[in-house]
Amino acid sequence: MTPREIARINELLDKSQKVVLISHASPDGDAIGSILAMTAYLRGRGLDPLPMLPDGLPAYYSWMPYSSLVCDADREPDRCREALEQAELIICFDFNGFKRVEGLQEPLEKAKGVKVLIDHHPNPQKGFDHLMSQPSASSAAELVYYFIHALAGTNKEVIDLPMAQAIYVGMMTDTGSFNYNANNPEMYSVIRHLVEIGVDPELMHQRIYNNFSVRRMRFLGNALLNKMVVLPDQAAAYIPLTLSDLQQFKHQKGDTEGLVNYPLSIKGIVFSALLTETSEYVKASFRSISPFDVNVFAKNHFNGGGHIHAAGGKSFQPMTETIQLFESLVKSNYLKQLKDAQKSI
Ligand code: 5GP
Ligand code: MN
Repeated sequence: MTPREIARINELLDKSQKVVLISHASPDGDAIGSILAMTAYLRGRGLDPLPMLPDGLPAYYSWMPYSSLVCDADREPDRCREALEQAELIICFDFNGFKRVEGLQEPLEKAKGVKVLIDHHPNPQKGFDHLMSQPSASSAAELVYYFIHALAGTNKEVIDLPMAQAIYVGMMTDTGSFNYNANNPEMYSVIRHLVEIGVDPELMHQRIYNNFSVRRMRFLGNALLNKMVVLPDQAAAYIPLTLSDLQQFKHQKGDTEGLVNYPLSIKGIVFSALLTETSEYVKASFRSISPFDVNVFAKNHFNGGGHIHAAGGKSFQPMTETIQLFESLVKSNYLKQLKDAQKSI
């Protein structure tokens, strides 16, 4: 984003009454942290932006400042649609294609307001007026940190504690607590600054990760003990969860967050998938280590995409066929790549 574009966005912010801050469906910490950090910043500028999500946020994010302001299309579809129609400026975070806002896709695409994208996925779709697209960034939240500084110009003290916490949550969750996507030294300068501002990393970890209900812990235990299928010869593993598995444990939003990472803790496993049945499709989540590219895998076979080591998509086949497809892909088309990836560790 050029200084000229920043100046134009600043002008819009100075004169616009109606600003929407939107992120993707099934929001993760990065989606939520990004819209809430920006909400805090714009409120500090005297604006009253509307943070928006296609569906609700998991309960363990509800402590975050301004989370109660989020307009979610599951609960308030008309309010979301109207706000998009009327918005003069729409800032999009953490997605590279309009498909990712699901039920809000059409109103977002049709919206007349100026569209800005702040994102770290490769190959952003056309249709945005201004872009801050940096696939090397750990998270969209890290880019929000740079974006706010760019907007604030010479004011280096612009980030306050609520903004810093929201940015930290986005960076922490998108890097698995700085365990992947975390090799860029610049990221640690941002973290250092956030901690100087007052972010307490132990408290953040506590609030996001150490807050399982007993029910959710047993759901996780069941998934690992009874559901996970390990394919050692393919260096892969997957966890299929049917609607009845979810019902058995009274599934709640956010329960499966992080689950797809567990199989990667098994020695020799470089590719993990979580297949979660919904009433309309099977949601697929993919994670990998080493060079195996799950973005390509998700794009080619699951109508999705994402990053090299974290991607997702959908299958419109029933669960049994989806599992067959996954197994046949890893056993034939991708076997060599998986074996090579395993050797590279
Ligand atoms: P998750 O597995 O946590 O749902 O998603 C991991 C990453 O994959 C996300 O950061 C997002 O970039 C991408 N992703 C997830 N679901 C989809 C999808 O349906 N389509 C696309 N294009 N990307 C997805
Ligand atoms: Mn992200």
